[in-house]
Amino acid sequence: MRKKIVAGNWKMNTLPSEGVELAKAVVAGRGEVCECVNFIVCPPFTHLSQVIEAVKGSNIAVGAQDCATETKGAYTGEVAAQMIAALGCKYVILGHSERRQYYGETSETLNKKMAQAYANGLTPIYCVGENLEEREAGNHFAVCKAQIEEVVFNLTEEQFANLVIAYEPVWAIGTGKTATADQAQEIHAYIREVLREKFGALAEECPILYGGSCKPSNAAEIFAKEDVDGGLIGGAALVAGDFLAIGKGF
Ligand code: PEP
Repeated sequence: MRKKIVAGNWKMNTLPSEGVELAKAVVAGRGEVCECVNFIVCPPFTHLSQVIEAVKGSNIAVGAQDCATETKGAYTGEVAAQMIAALGCKYVILGHSERRQYYGETSETLNKKMAQAYANGLTPIYCVGENLEEREAGNHFAVCKAQIEEVVFNLTEEQFANLVIAYEPVWAIGTGKTATADQAQEIHAYIREVLREKFGALAEECPILYGGSCKPSNAAEIFAKEDVDGGLIGGAALVAGDFLAIGKGF
């Protein structure tokens, strides 16, 4: 039985006080959603600490949105995985399309970040997905395959057993345009097949989340698909009621 996960990527939103309020609201409503759903919130670095404090005692985990490629040292502006882990974070989002697109993240940098995450006991939420042009050209399978082969295939079995993958079609992120449940299932099943080539039966255990304009009104249909194990949620994660309602989609 694969883990069911609903992870909220807050991106560069909320001031610390707003983030704490949001986290507390998620904690307050958590009881309305099945215990079987694993909720994760990923606030900006600046209020990770306060959000960790706000969710203490609940079964809501906290993740960061990125980490540095290096362990420590003269890397102005960077935040090391060991710093994130020391705060009590359990997860780190890596390879989000906004980081690939705006900050030039490549498989080379992501391999280093993955190594840092694992060395510090963090579970990566590794994002893959095609842009609109690639989808329209029918290249979405090849794009996702390459993003997996170039990074995930470098993991040991032990590391892979502690990985979450998020399939996020770039054309659906923050656009209000969602992949249909069938489109999501088609590519999730394909991603699992690619993972099976390298990791065999372990691929059955890897949670694959859908991300891209997921909201309370479409979550249930998407989560009902066999190879969809939850969602990575952007905009809707900023409203506690919506974020929790997405969890009710299982
Ligand atoms: C995301 O950026 O991870 C995301 C899925 O955003 P949204 O839900 O806003 O499309």
